Amino acid sequence: MNKYQELWNETRDYLAKNLTENTFTETFEDVKVVLKEENGIIYVLVPSNYIQSKINNLYSRQIKEILEKLTKEKVKFKFVLSDETISKVKPAFSPINEHNLNQNYTFESYVVGDSNKLSYLTALKVAENPGTWINPLYIFGGVGLGKTHLMQAIGNYLEEVNLTSEKEFRILYVQANEYLEDYAKASMAHDLTKFEAKYNNLDLLLVDDIQMLSKGAGSQQEFFKLFNNMTERNKQIVITSDKAASELNGIMERLTSRFQMGFTVDIKQPDLNQRFNILKRKALESSEEQIDDEVLYYIAENFVNNVRELEGALNRVTKYSMLLNRKPNLDLAKEALEILINAHPKDNNKNYEDALSVISAMYNISTTDLLGTSRQNKYVIPRHIAMYILKNHYGLTLKRIGQIFDKDHTSIMNGCKRIETELKTDKQIKMAVDSIVKKI
Ligand code: ADP
Ligand code: MG
Repeated sequence: MNKYQELWNETRDYLAKNLTENTFTETFEDVKVVLKEENGIIYVLVPSNYIQSKINNLYSRQIKEILEKLTKEKVKFKFVLSDETISKVKPAFSPINEHNLNQNYTFESYVVGDSNKLSYLTALKVAENPGTWINPLYIFGGVGLGKTHLMQAIGNYLEEVNLTSEKEFRILYVQANEYLEDYAKASMAHDLTKFEAKYNNLDLLLVDDIQMLSKGAGSQQEFFKLFNNMTERNKQIVITSDKAASELNGIMERLTSRFQMGFTVDIKQPDLNQRFNILKRKALESSEEQIDDEVLYYIAENFVNNVRELEGALNRVTKYSMLLNRKPNLDLAKEALEILINAHPKDNNKNYEDALSVISAMYNISTTDLLGTSRQNKYVIPRHIAMYILKNHYGLTLKRIGQIFDKDHTSIMNGCKRIETELKTDKQIKMAVDSIVKKI
């Protein structure tokens, strides 16, 4: 057996260990044979476009990481359908391709958590079944939460299919205001030829920030035609917006009711845990120097509104560390981010020990037990509530709370998270927390 075949076998074994049995079988069962190696590229045979696209979109990072563990050689795997496709290599890397897609916006680089799980799964399914499963897909949510990324992931997924299959999906990503301008130009010139060439006969149309269409009545008429034409031909449309379709102002009802005929998903704000995971991923992707979890927690705790802000903060820390040639540790992060963190009017001055007394009294336990390690329920619940209160009402960092409870920040985070979840469903906990907050 040649060494490249062996390398793939080993990689495959790792995947089998890391993935669930079903996932592994579905995707990698028939991906066994290495065809050849050329210029550092190891060509692995895959049975279908579908499998190929799936591997490229969902597992390429994982495979790359395994490969880095297994060999020092500079090689990478490329998944191909047959010998013939080997010559059809991907064009040189450029982040924006001809469809206006940013190639970094893939499913694989999208971190999934409670806030976006349904949106992610739906978008992936749409990418796997374009035009036939749900149409249109309507994604809404606040700024910087990942709408554009997710929408373009669908485009990039199908673009990957295009690279190797006979059939070519015509894909277009457009911002609604660009559509508006295109239409305005065409109608002013009384010539729709260019406009039609761009927008007709598409297989996938991604329209970003549809709320912008409210500015042009004529273009809404035109878009209505395009929309109907595409859905009648079972061609996929994906729309994003900052609002639910029913709340779009200034867009004709004929259109908004069409949007509601498909399937709507929304992306919410990521919670602390997810913010941390996103930062962890971005830190791995972008910087050479490893950044401590402590720093990432600090950023995740202080930048809560959206992912763009998180990226901005992380970026600032890495740039700052490069400029000053210092390690990106917590001290540096605090310095770098000082001007961005607007001093929340948190009750830092209040003594958190008051809260501990109130909670112990309410649950009829001693403060020592509250801060202790017993895992009995009668201690664990008030302990988690105390963590939650110190974090949210005293503005203490996870690290600081960790010192108070003599636990690491993950345990503190999990405790806080548990209470956050229970506040939504458990009336008793909610009443207890409200009453504690009143007393402190
Ligand atoms: P929106 O279109 O909702 O305003 P974007 O899609 O432009 O937001 O996202 C802003 C930035 O945050 C982008 O760089 C994007 O890659 C990143 N981002 C958003 N959500 C995620 C996520 N879940 N995982 C990884 N990166 C994300
Ligand atoms: Mg956007």
